[in-house]
Parts: sequence; C-alpha cells; structure tokens
Amino acid sequence: MPSIIETAKTGRAGCRTCKTPIGKGELRFGEEVPNAFSAGEMTYNWHHLACAAKKKPSALKEALDSTDQTVPDKEELLKAIEVNAKTEKPTVLPYAEYAPTARAACIGCTEKIEKGHLRVAIESEDDGSPFPRSGPRYLHVACAVDHAGDDPDEFFERVKANSKNVEMKDMQELEAALQA
Ligand SMILES: [Zn+2]
Ligand SMILES: [Zn+2]
Repeated sequence: MPSIIETAKTGRAGCRTCKTPIGKGELRFGEEVPNAFSAGEMTYNWHHLACAAKKKPSALKEALDSTDQTVPDKEELLKAIEVNAKTEKPTVLPYAEYAPTARAACIGCTEKIEKGHLRVAIESEDDGSPFPRSGPRYLHVACAVDHAGDDPDEFFERVKANSKNVEMKDMQELEAALQA
C-alpha cells in the first residue's frame, strides 16, 4: 500500500499512534487505507514521523526512500526504524511468523502449534456462518500446503512479501513444504 510523507495542511488530523494532533506545517506520514465511510475510496491514516518509526517502521522506510520532501531528522528516524523493524508485527495476511504462544490450534490438523515454531497465518475463510470469525487463522508449515490454493508458488510469494523477521532458512523450509 502506498504511503506518503507530506506537510500537514491543517492542524486537524490526529496521529493514529499517539492520538495527539499533528501541527499545521509539520511533516506527517500517511498510510493509504480503504475509506470506512465510502466503499472503493481510499483515505490516509496520519502519524507523526517519530510515531510511524515506532509503529510502522517498514512502511515509513519506504516512504522516506521515495519522498522528495526534505526530512530534517531523517538520520534519527532511520536509526529508530532499524531498531523497531526487528520487532514489527506483520499486518497483511497471509504471513509467516514464530508463534508467540502455544494457544493457537492449527486449522489443518487441529493440533496446537508449539510456541516459537514457524506458523502460517491466513485469512479466515467465509464458511457461510452468521457469525464469521475474524482475524487470522494459523497453520503448521507442514499443513499449509492444503490451504495454499491453486497456485502454491504465488501463495508463497505473498507470504514472503508480508512476513517480517523470519529467518531465511525457515522461509526456505516453508517454500519446500508448499511444493510437496
Ligand atoms: Zn504521534
Ligand atoms: Zn497442522
């Protein structure tokens, strides 16, 4: 999703991270999101640059790389990004991550996924129930192939693009599992 850095034209927008206003004339980071009030339209969620460095380090990094704005504290922001990117949580499904707890059960084999093991998070399937479950559902690496759809290579590419802080060797293991 494209995001931008621009000078705030008004002082009305609040920062989504710290909930305080972003002053007129201050640089702000905007993340493009679907407009909740108007289907098909896009809008921006705004953040102070320093707040974005904490909450959205990889998106801010992209915006800093592509902006033609002069960002006075760019060096400091880049340092903060480097630190915070190490613990950033993925936000776009599907992705792979190390299970932070052993609470989630695999939707493939229904066994619990051990803490610290790599798991694949996918969108909840619409099963037609009147109360669809929202949020991700989880799979063992070995169980992911049954939920990768018709094109496991394409599925893997999406998982890889959305994942953060997963070691290369674990990604390769997932890729191999999906090709099984
Ligand atoms: Zn803020
Ligand atoms: Zn499983």
